[in-house]
Formats: sequence, C-alpha cells, structure tokens
Amino acid sequence: ARPVRVVVLGAGSWGTTVAGLAARNTPTLLWARNSEAADEINSQRTNSKYLGERKLPKGLKATSDLVEAAREADVLVCGVPSHAVRATLAEIANEVRAWVPVLSLSKGLEPGTRQRPTEVIAECLPGHPVGLLAGPNIAKEIVDGMAAASVVATQDDRVAAALQPLFASSVFRVYRNTDVLGCELGGILKNIVAIASGMADGLGVGDNTRAMVLARGLAEMTRLGEAMGANPRTFAGLTGVGDLIATCMAPTSRNRRVGEALAQGLTVEEAVAKLGQVAEGVKTAPTVMDLAREYGVDMPIAAEVEAVIGGRQSASDAYRGLQKVAPGGEH
Ligand code: 13P
Repeated sequence: ARPVRVVVLGAGSWGTTVAGLAARNTPTLLWARNSEAADEINSQRTNSKYLGERKLPKGLKATSDLVEAAREADVLVCGVPSHAVRATLAEIANEVRAWVPVLSLSKGLEPGTRQRPTEVIAECLPGHPVGLLAGPNIAKEIVDGMAAASVVATQDDRVAAALQPLFASSVFRVYRNTDVLGCELGGILKNIVAIASGMADGLGVGDNTRAMVLARGLAEMTRLGEAMGANPRTFAGLTGVGDLIATCMAPTSRNRRVGEALAQGLTVEEAVAKLGQVAEGVKTAPTVMDLAREYGVDMPIAAEVEAVIGGRQSASDAYRGLQKVAPGGEH
C-alpha cells in the first residue's frame, strides 16, 4: 500500500519539530507561510529562526504553497497559532480530501469565539475526524533527540490508534486519550500558569513559591476543565501537570519568558516584541477569564495574570494580590 502522507501546516518551532518526527516514519510535507523558510528547510535542512543550527531529517520536504500542501494530505496537522487557524483553513476548505483526519498542535483559544482549536477545525473542515497532539514537548529538546512523551487525543480511539505510529519513535512515546476537551484545555490553560511562574521567577521568589504557583495553578486548570465537562484525571497526566511542569520550568518557554519580562517592568507589548514569537497565553488569558466567569469557577492566579496582561497592575501587584486572597478549601 502507498504510505500515508502527512502534511503539517505552520513552520514555527513545534510545527517543524512534529513534521520532523513524522518524516522519520512516512513521507511528510511542511507548509511554511514564508517561502524563504521553506527554501532553507529544503536546501539546508534547518529552520534557523526557530531551531537554530539543528538539522532536520533528510526526508522532510517544505513548501510555501498552501493549496498544494492541502491536496497532498492523507493526514493534516495544524500547527499555526490559535488565532490564525480559521483564516489558514478557510483557504483550503475545499482542497482537503474527505475523511482526512486533522490533528491540532495549537495551545490557545480563538479570541472572540472562545473556541478551542479543534472546535475551529471542526467548523472549517466539517465531517473530518479531528483531534490533537499535546504534551510536555519543548521543541528544541525533541529535535535534539531527547526522550519525551505526548498524547494523541481523538473522540474515537481507533483514529488515535491509527495516527499514533506516524509520530512515535524509540525516544518519542505517543499515548492515546479520548478526553479531547481535557487534553486540549491542559495545553491551553498551562500557558497562563507559565506566565505566572515566569513572573514569580522574575521577582526572585523561592522554590516553595514556585511549587505553590504550580500546584494551585493546576487546581484552577482542573476546576475549569471539570466544570466544562472534562475528566479531572486528565489534568494529572502528560497534557495537564506534565505540560505545566515543562512549560513553567523551561528557560526557553515563550510564556514563561513573557512572564519574566513583565516582572522586569516591560509592558505586555514590549514583552511580546522582545520575544519575537507567539506566546499563546497572552491572547488566551482574557478569554479564559470570560470562561471562568461563565462557569462560575474561581481562578485567582489566572485573574492576577490577566490583570497584568491587561495593563491594570504590575507583576509585583499581582503577587501582593494573591497574598490578599483568603485561602479556601484546597479543592
Ligand atoms: P511555550 O509556548 O511557552 O514555549 O510552551 C511550550 C509548550 O507548550 C511545551 O509543551
């Protein structure tokens, strides 16, 4: 049988990395918005803007022709930022063949609609099986060949089982989960806690404080997820606490770096400009606070982060703000 062709949309650090994982198993095409990036991947096997000098697998091909890429796909992977998913897929809605499964890599909510990326994909490409790949996956470590694990989440476990071997390797373990909502929310909500963690680091806190931010941040993530219908146990797994720990600890995490810059007194615009990449938590924090109010869920850490992003307080105000909240029951 003809091998399955994987097409990855978005040549940022993670889209490129996932395309590299798939290229070791099956023919893979990566769509880069920028034609110079596509040329560099094809001729040099590097994506220097995002991954420095790291070499990508020989089999990986890139293109800047979105329509050509979409027509090739037996499996489509969407790795553009959450706010760009709808516009990108609108260009290819009539090009993707029927039944082609679509996997999301994006970890943010669409501003305005408050939709998760898999919901946006389902609207743009109706009738396609939709799921996501998520977990504690710092791109550069994976390109360097360090061991990691991730989760393919689809409502129908048979779809996840078919997709699992396309991305897996001896050092990249791919688990399955049918709780799409819980897995997707874990990746989305941890970015806000990572901004809080970065702010705490920037303010020079100790390890107890760091652990408090992580543990109570996880409690907030789990509360909102459960209220929205997710399995609370999902948040104890790779896509929940796993991704939370990686993102809060990694010096390269974009969300954590934005938090550190905010603690140094930069405005959010300055912090994002300094980063030069998308930190999903920045746009997602206000949307998460809308959801917290709608579902009547208490999220004090997210609220403080959102107020700093909104320019209504400084990072040190946020820290003092948390001290003023009287602790309730732990769960
Ligand atoms: P950042 O977007 O903060 O870099 O997080 C990376 C990540 O989600 C790792 O799993």
